[in-house]
Amino acid sequence: MISEIENSSPQHDAASMSCEGLKKVGPKMLERLKKCQIETIQDLLFHLPFRYQDRTRITPIGALRDGDYAVIEGVVQRAHIKPGRKASLVVRIEDATGSVDLRFFHFNASQKNSFQVGAKVRCFGEVRGLHGHFALFHPEYRFVIENSVVPVEEFLTPIYSTTDGLNQKSLRNLTDEVLALLEKQDLLIEYLPESFLKEFNFIPLKEAVLFAHRPSPDTPTLLLEEKKHPAQRRLAFEELLAHTLAMRRLRQKVRHHKAPDLKGTGALVSSFIAALPFSLTKAQCRVTDEVATDLSQAIPMMRLVQGDVGSGKTAVAVIAALQAVESGYQAAVMAPTEILAEQHYVNFCEWLKPLGIEVAWLSGKLKTKKRQEALEEIVSGRAKVIVGTHALFQEDVVFAKLGLVIIDEQHRFGVHQRMALRDKGANTDTVPHQLIMTATPIPRTLAMTAYANLDCSVIDELPPGRIPVGTIVLSNEKRGEIIERIRAICREKRQAYWVCTLIEESEVLQCQAAEITATQLIEALPELKIALIHGRMKPEQKQEIMAAFQKGDIDLLVATTVIEVGVNVPNASLMVIENPERLGLAQLHQLRGRVGRGSAESFCVLMYQSPLSLFSKQRLQIMRNSHDGFVIAQKDLELRGPGEVLGVRQTGLVHMKVADLIRDQDLIPKVQRYADIFLKQYPERVEPLIRRWVNQGERYVDV
Ligand code: ADP
Ligand code: MG
Repeated sequence: MISEIENSSPQHDAASMSCEGLKKVGPKMLERLKKCQIETIQDLLFHLPFRYQDRTRITPIGALRDGDYAVIEGVVQRAHIKPGRKASLVVRIEDATGSVDLRFFHFNASQKNSFQVGAKVRCFGEVRGLHGHFALFHPEYRFVIENSVVPVEEFLTPIYSTTDGLNQKSLRNLTDEVLALLEKQDLLIEYLPESFLKEFNFIPLKEAVLFAHRPSPDTPTLLLEEKKHPAQRRLAFEELLAHTLAMRRLRQKVRHHKAPDLKGTGALVSSFIAALPFSLTKAQCRVTDEVATDLSQAIPMMRLVQGDVGSGKTAVAVIAALQAVESGYQAAVMAPTEILAEQHYVNFCEWLKPLGIEVAWLSGKLKTKKRQEALEEIVSGRAKVIVGTHALFQEDVVFAKLGLVIIDEQHRFGVHQRMALRDKGANTDTVPHQLIMTATPIPRTLAMTAYANLDCSVIDELPPGRIPVGTIVLSNEKRGEIIERIRAICREKRQAYWVCTLIEESEVLQCQAAEITATQLIEALPELKIALIHGRMKPEQKQEIMAAFQKGDIDLLVATTVIEVGVNVPNASLMVIENPERLGLAQLHQLRGRVGRGSAESFCVLMYQSPLSLFSKQRLQIMRNSHDGFVIAQKDLELRGPGEVLGVRQTGLVHMKVADLIRDQDLIPKVQRYADIFLKQYPERVEPLIRRWVNQGERYVDV
């Protein structure tokens, strides 16, 4: 039906109809909808439910199972207040098959009195088993007048993402109204060409949208929850296509800009390589060549270098920076944390000062005078390489001639921050090249979408002679033995890390926990020099401690997860991670990469809080069994989803409406192929398709 109209547009296009025209929408509602990025009728139609509830039938109480969401109907047997730490109202209701409790922790006297013995109630809620008896906590409920028939829902109930003042009921009412409109007339343009629809056996768009909002009761709930229904797959394909097109367009846009061609002379690069105490690995050489080729062109480079921890990304970055300097330009190096930036600064100074290159340092915490001096160095062009944190893209930082921006561990920065730094080069008619380095290996299919706007290089080889870090999973009951182990290795003049983690996001609490641990360890190991480092310390303090640890003046460093990235102390050969079960696998892999950097055999002890669930234990075993960042990242993605692992929150990829980069991985290669066809054959459909699926703030148009 819809496929027929491929070349004819509908009488009305939902994309150009404002929600203002809807019956139930006044100025207040319009405002709230806007908060959910809903402005047009099309936006409303594509504000798809993220899950469903089955309220289409009444479940006999005897048939309830733990964890079900169910509608039940029964007669009140009694209602009483159960005392306890927190008093609760307990109402027992019964039908012919059994009885169940309704429990309310927030209630008032009139609510209690409304549950008259013998009254009939219909409830909806989640079923929880409690001491062999089921209960519904805070269920929705209504009283049913005897002998009257209250109809059940006709469709599975959609649950929408929402905002303050806009409840599920209003969203259901609004979608009822627009779905009724959609039933009557063709409001949606089919952008997928007939040939795609045929090849994939896709159902028409209108049908898919109607289904997604109001699935019929006979749809298997599991299929729906897993978003594997044909309607959802069809929508997911279109959504992935829209995001891919947005990324491709972004990349094309960048290519329209001009960048300085940093052809270099080779002089600095070759002296640097000659002075290195090692020779570059094959992988480092290959990636260095790829970067060098990009830099020598007048098109802005946008290259992502992926390399496991310890693969030697820093050397690649230094070589790129030198090529810029040789060509008469500045290079800026940005890292996400103060500690990591400082470490880069130290490394760059050590490597570049002998070559006569001035390196400047800029962090948010610099004192006014130092900051002024740094700014002066940068604007005058005396500083050739500038290292810092996000402070680099503050407004008063003016570069004399910025040719290259290097960003380490990019997943911590948003797209927008990166672009702000890129604009720093815009005082001329060119933009700087960008080199982005990440230690989070990204499976290929994901990289194709998440980083479709970037070229990718992979350092897929570690420097020779590295012995894999022996990983041991132990219960905290073995704490005493672990402490003995630290004593032993420190006696051999090696060093150790003790990493504290905490569930709480609060930095204050994390630091407190680390302080307590440090105190205990100092008592247990009086002969060792033990220091504490955490995120709330002054930068000078942190730098001092890191320097002392690097020099070997500290035996054991107790740290919060601040040491996660980049810190390089080859003599450290033991790391204890407390409560590793609280961290993602990729993060654990990063942490573990801090040891095993020297020639000695190294160990990482994952000291979990006993008892640990079987699932968590299995997760930690993955760490024991694998040292391959790619394998670990893939598992982590499966377990935790892409938002956490890739940090792509800002790109909108994790806010997709139906698609999911992990679940729908199989679609991604197809989407890539069709994106090419789409761009060539249907260029006029690109913009409206992106508009349909990709939220405003995330349309990647400005970047
Ligand atoms: P990452 O990729 O994690 O940033 P680094 O750049 O910090 O890794 O390198 C880790 C360590 O390996 C550093 O001590 C560095 O000097 C060393 N290194 C880098 N490349 C090589 C190489 N080709 N051979 C030997 N050691 C190397
Ligand atoms: Mg690094």
